[in-house]
Amino acid sequence: MNQGLFINGQWTTGRSTGTREIINPFNREVIATVVEATRKDTQDAIAAARAAFDSGPWPRFAASERAALVRALGDAVEQHREELAHLESLDTGKTLEESRWDMDDIAGIFRYYADIVESDMADSAVQSPIKDSTSTIVREPVGVCGQISPWNYPLLQASWKMAPALAAGCTIIMKPSEITPLTTIRITELAQEVGFPPGVVNLVLGAGHPVGAELAESLDVDLISFTGGIETGRKIMQAASGNAKKIALELGGKNPHIVFADADIETAVDYALNAVFFHAGQICSAGARLLLESSIHDDFVSALRAKMERIVIGNGMVDGTQMGPLISEQHRDKVERAIKLGQEEGATVLTGGKRPDAKELENGFFVTPTLFTNCTSEMRIVQEEVFGPVITVERFETEEEAIILANDTTYGLSAGFWTTDTARQQRVSRALRFGTVWINDFNVYFVQAPWGGYKQSGIGRELGRAGLEEYLETKHVFQNLTPKSLNWFGG
Ligand code: NAD
Repeated sequence: MNQGLFINGQWTTGRSTGTREIINPFNREVIATVVEATRKDTQDAIAAARAAFDSGPWPRFAASERAALVRALGDAVEQHREELAHLESLDTGKTLEESRWDMDDIAGIFRYYADIVESDMADSAVQSPIKDSTSTIVREPVGVCGQISPWNYPLLQASWKMAPALAAGCTIIMKPSEITPLTTIRITELAQEVGFPPGVVNLVLGAGHPVGAELAESLDVDLISFTGGIETGRKIMQAASGNAKKIALELGGKNPHIVFADADIETAVDYALNAVFFHAGQICSAGARLLLESSIHDDFVSALRAKMERIVIGNGMVDGTQMGPLISEQHRDKVERAIKLGQEEGATVLTGGKRPDAKELENGFFVTPTLFTNCTSEMRIVQEEVFGPVITVERFETEEEAIILANDTTYGLSAGFWTTDTARQQRVSRALRFGTVWINDFNVYFVQAPWGGYKQSGIGRELGRAGLEEYLETKHVFQNLTPKSLNWFGG
C-alpha cells in the first residue's frame, strides 16, 4: 500500500522528509509510517484540484459518467471489504465486526449517490411570471472541496464526503485524521484504479495544522467540509471566512437517551449499552446521557451495571471481543481526566472508571465501561462530550422535565427515547431539538436520511439528498423569448 500523498493522479512523498508512525491502539505496534505533508504540498494538491475543476476533462463528464465512476468505487469497496475492515480495525482498535458493517455502509453510500445524482441535478423549470420567457433552474457543482475527517469512523466519515462531492462533479482534497489515515489511503488507490481523471481526487496526510488549516484558509478552495470537534470547527469557520467559502460542519454531541417508565425496560437496558459502547463510546451520537424516570431508576441502573460488567474488552481483531481500546494515549488521558472531574463534581462511579487489570491489555489504551449515577444537569461530566465508554444517569419525574433536561445542552446532534405511549411518542419527538430523534431505538442511521446537528453540533447535513445538496450551486437561467427595447432611458 502507498504511504504517501496523492496529488494530480500521482503518488508522491511531497516536499518534506517528515513522516508519522501509525500505531495500533491495542498494543502500540507501529503498523505503518506515512508521509507528513507540508503546507506547500497541500497547496500543490489544491492547485491540482483547481486545474481539474476549471479545465480538465472532469467538467465535461455527464452526470451519468460520474455516476458510473462513483458506483464503481462502491463496488471496489465491496470487493476489498475484508482487507479494508482489517485495516480499519488495526488502525482504530474497533472490533472487526464493526469495521465490516462500516464497509458495507460505505459501498452503499457510493451507490446511493450514483443512483440519485442524475435526477437530482437535472434542470427544472420555474413558472416565469413574465410573458414570453423561460426560467430554468440549473444545478452545478460547487467546485474545489477540502474535506477533513476524524479518527473514529475514518473511512465512513470520508465516504460521506467523497461520494456526494464526486457525484456532483466537484474535485476534492481529502485530509484524513493524522491518527487513522490507512483506509483513506487505500480508497484513494481504489479511486485511481477505477479511473477518476488526475486532479479529481487528491489526498494529503498530516496534522490539522498546517495541512487542514491550509485547506480551510485557501482562497482556491470553494467549500470546506469538516467532521470533528467543536473547537476545531470554530477555527475552521474563522479560517474559511477569507474567501467566504461554503462550510459544512459535523461536530460533536452529548446525546440524551430518555427512558419512560412505560417502556419495554428489558430492551431499553440493552439499547442503553448499544447506544454507547460500540467503538468504546467514541461515537459522535453516543447516547451517553441517560435520563431515567424516577420509578424505574434503581432497577434500570442495577440491570445496566450488571450487563456493563460483562462487556468483553480486548483486541478488536479477535472474535468475541465486544469493545476495543480508545484511540490513543492522549485520548485516554482526556477520558480519564473527565472521569476524575465527574467524581470531583460529586457524581458516583458505580462501576468502571479505571484501566482493566488483565496483563494482556496493559499496552492498549483501555478504560473500563463506566457508569456515573447521582448526576445533575449542570455537571461538566453531563454537559461535555467525553467520547469514551462513559454513561451518566439523571432522574426525572415528568415528561415535561425530561424534555427540559434533554434540551439543556449546547449540542443538538441526536437523541432517543423509549415509551409505548403513542401520543407521547409524537409529543416528545417534536419537542426534542436534535438533528436525529430515535423512538424505541438508538444510533440507527442510513444513507437515505439526512444526518447533522442542531445548535453547536454542526452546520448543514450529510447523507440523504441533503448530503448531495451541500455540493451543489443553484443557478437561475432566465431567457427573454421576445426581447424589445424598453425605451426607458433616453428613449
Ligand atoms: P478533531 O477536531 O481533533 O480533528 C478532526 C480533523 O480535523 C482531523 O483530521 C484533524 O487533523 C483536523 N484538524 C485539527 N485541527 C485543525 C485545524 N486547525 N484546521 C483544520 N483541520 C484541523 O476531532 P477528532 O478528535 O478527530 O474527532 C472527534 C470529534 O469528531 C468528536 O467531537 C466527535 O463528536 C466528532 N464527530 C462528529 C461526527 C458527526 O457526524 N457529527 C462524526 C464523527 C465524529
